[in-house]
Amino acid sequence: MHDSTKILRSTLTRAVAGEPLHPSPVFAAPFHTPGDPNESPFTYGRMSNPTWIALEQIIGQMESGVFADGHANAGKSYRAKALVFASGMAACASVFGAVLKPGDVVVLPANCYFAARALMQEYFVKMGVVVRLAPTADNAQGECLEGAKLLWIESPSNPLMEVCDITALCERAHKAGALVAVDNTSSTPLGLRALALGADFAVASDTKSMSGHSDIILGHVAVRDLELRQQVEQWRTLMGGILGPMEAWLALRSIETLPLRLERSSFNAQRIAEYLTTRTDVVHKVLYAGLPTHPGHAIAARQMHYFGAILSFTLADRAAAEAFLAKAKLITEATSFGGTCTCAERRARWGGDDVPEGFIRLSTGLEHIDDLLADIGQALDSLG
Ligand SMILES: *Cc1c(COP(=O)(O)O)cnc(C)c1O
Repeated sequence: MHDSTKILRSTLTRAVAGEPLHPSPVFAAPFHTPGDPNESPFTYGRMSNPTWIALEQIIGQMESGVFADGHANAGKSYRAKALVFASGMAACASVFGAVLKPGDVVVLPANCYFAARALMQEYFVKMGVVVRLAPTADNAQGECLEGAKLLWIESPSNPLMEVCDITALCERAHKAGALVAVDNTSSTPLGLRALALGADFAVASDTKSMSGHSDIILGHVAVRDLELRQQVEQWRTLMGGILGPMEAWLALRSIETLPLRLERSSFNAQRIAEYLTTRTDVVHKVLYAGLPTHPGHAIAARQMHYFGAILSFTLADRAAAEAFLAKAKLITEATSFGGTCTCAERRARWGGDDVPEGFIRLSTGLEHIDDLLADIGQALDSLG
């Protein structure tokens, strides 16, 4: 069965006469808990909630699969467990918090998601964790693993779209005694199954493509190992960074259309990236792993099922980037990515990322490609 079909079928409740087809939200702080609390499936809403469980089962199924070629257990299947969080950052923090002690070394991508790097540097480093930074491209993180406790990977990285070989890096990290976490936000488990490539943790902000409607904030961590699951869950219960049932339910609804959304947005991104490479008159550089000219294309094609909604390109300077965004009527200026409507922003306006002033990150939505290409074309023409 194809993943898209499996995802859809997994959103259904059991066929009990008179019950709704899909789970509804359950709002509760305490649950009825007579006698021995171990006999009650739910006791208190910070520990567990039926709507999270429904979401965690679906995400757990999406993260489960068969180990990929190149992995020592290639061809064998495994089962994943997912835990949902109040945000992608709460999910990242749970892995940092569950794994790292003072003196431990963590290897981060040099252009890793800005807030994850800031959390590490502003808090964990002050508590004695040692950070090593290395680029995502050329598997450069593999050179810094000696004595490391945790390797953190993002591929393609955001917003520079660098790619690394996750299977090869996991093997090197495990040989060095390190655990591996992949921040898989941009791909979702439908686009890239990090646990099948050998990662110990698949972490994501499900705020982006996974829920995909630009209206909720949430995240998840998936693992194969039950002890790691228990550590991450304990962190969540004690920190209290939990998801509300309403958000969990909205995510359940949203995931039903993930296969359709990822297919359409990846198709649109590929066509736009291809078009931008023909506009050498005004576009300096186009970064998208789906382009055969991208240095990471062969690896990305092997480990990804969809190349995803995000692409980046560089215009002459700040003025050109601002003029482009003002002229493009079908591109909404906003941060974030993975929503139903095409969005873009001039990335350097935030500081923090090492990108040129004219660098634009674009997230394709679900519009008709002909309309997007016509609009982008006229906006680029206006720069001439
Ligand atoms: C957005 C994002 C996060 C943080 O997620 P929130 O849901 O905003 O907390 C983490 N990693 C990546 C790659 C992201 O894009």
